[in-house]
Amino acid sequence: MPKSRKITNDWPYAPAPEAAKIAKVAKRYDHFINGKWTAPKSGEYFKTTNPANNRKLSEVADGNEADVDAAVKAARAAYEGSWGKMSARERGKYVYRIARLMQERAREFAIIETLDGGKSIRESRDIDVPLAANHFFYNAGWADKLDYAFPNRKPKALGVAGQVIPWNFPLLMAAWKIAPALATGNTVVLKPAETTPLTALKLAEIIEDSGLPDGVVNIVTGAGETGAAVVNHPDVNKVAFTGSTAVGKLIQKSVAGSDKRVTLELGGKAANIILEDAAIDQAVEGIVNGIYFNQGHVCCAGSRLFVQESVFDEVMWKLKRRMETLIVGDPLDKNTDIGAINSREQLKTIQKHLKAGVEDGAEMFQPKCDLPSSGNWCPPTVFTNVAQSSRIAQEEIFGPVLAVQTFRTVPEAIEKANNTPYGLSAGVWCDKGARLFQLTGALDAGVVWGNTYNQFDPTSPFGGFKESGFGREGGLHGLAAYLEL
Ligand code: NAP
Ligand code: MG
Repeated sequence: MPKSRKITNDWPYAPAPEAAKIAKVAKRYDHFINGKWTAPKSGEYFKTTNPANNRKLSEVADGNEADVDAAVKAARAAYEGSWGKMSARERGKYVYRIARLMQERAREFAIIETLDGGKSIRESRDIDVPLAANHFFYNAGWADKLDYAFPNRKPKALGVAGQVIPWNFPLLMAAWKIAPALATGNTVVLKPAETTPLTALKLAEIIEDSGLPDGVVNIVTGAGETGAAVVNHPDVNKVAFTGSTAVGKLIQKSVAGSDKRVTLELGGKAANIILEDAAIDQAVEGIVNGIYFNQGHVCCAGSRLFVQESVFDEVMWKLKRRMETLIVGDPLDKNTDIGAINSREQLKTIQKHLKAGVEDGAEMFQPKCDLPSSGNWCPPTVFTNVAQSSRIAQEEIFGPVLAVQTFRTVPEAIEKANNTPYGLSAGVWCDKGARLFQLTGALDAGVVWGNTYNQFDPTSPFGGFKESGFGREGGLHGLAAYLEL
């Protein structure tokens, strides 16, 4: 291996900023309840900021139990009324129309997602927004074909769905939840995350434009208590939650004994496994994609890397070299690979883990990069010499931090990869199909990617095992979660 890893950036990219001006963000947003923009009962609003400079973008309504109750009542009335009586074919047209409107306004959605959440514009533009629209398209197609999707099962909607989503994929998570709920004939009360409410509110604007009957989709903003009010409302029939395992456990306790249907999409600590016969360049690119893009704010981020000993030096040399070329900074710049960390709290959590990694005896590497002076930033980080018991190998960090371990044999890799309370996703890099299938079958993970990473498709179910939750979103499994079969 060449001694020097230094890459000279003689020709840096010229800035290519996306035009923030074209995105319309109002000074203040109310709840969207029963088709109307409704002031919060408490009269309180809270601000949402841009994590790239911590400046205020807008303020949104702080929802309490009374607001949630009004939203659930509106959803119930729509379910018993126009929406429940509408033919499946008509229903599908509305879902389709929402998808089309989202496509038409894709650029604005991408910019607002980046402003509010800090993720790079490349990510919002190429992944979040097109995938969100695709979820509406995909589910629209099933609306009048549920009898074929579930033959001899008499599919019937559940009623009112209470949905609570996190900040890492604000629009995409809203689409994952709302699209199948509508296609199957349910009505919705959705609470977006406190730090990233804007694209869900923009989605409400589209829903308004689509002419969807009042009350079918209601968006109530607020913090954790607002989410709890949605989940605990007695007239909610189905709870769909994506977020941390800690909150998922609280929710499961709070719905125990009720007849609410529940799906929980929770945290992860995915293993990426590189065998010695893998195409190393591709694998390195996959690792970078899996943990550094989107700042590692991905539930299925490949945050643990297991490398077969014989190729360890080569992988680490190539990985560090690639890390040195990653561009950290202005999320609105189209060249940016790693944007801003979503909030100050999340940055503190990541920094606490970096400290823990060093304290536990691991070796930390961060490429030199110029970080902007304001905002929340974390350079791409890799730890080697990581003990299996170390906190960075065990706990979900939710940042651009990779923990590397080695293995000699395939059974050892499987044992180490499965040694975690989580079971959401994993990746395997190897040249032989048979071995790849041997490994994918042995890993406790809802999704296993082979020679690729972080690939999503609305037709494919997604979800976890163990403490990563239960239930699936996407594909027919995702529709089934909103149906009495
Ligand atoms: P979180 O703290 O659990 O919050 C998720 C959502 O729940 C937010 O809207 C939050 O409101 C709300 N909430 C907080 N306390 C609640 C309570 N007691 N009852 C009901 N709702 C409550 O998670 P996060 O930090 O936003 O998101 C990161 C986590 O999500 C990670 O663990 C990640 O792995 C997981 N995730 C999983 C998937 C998956 O598909 N498995 C996908 C994406 C993310 P506030 O925003 O106001 O706190
Ligand atoms: Mg924000």
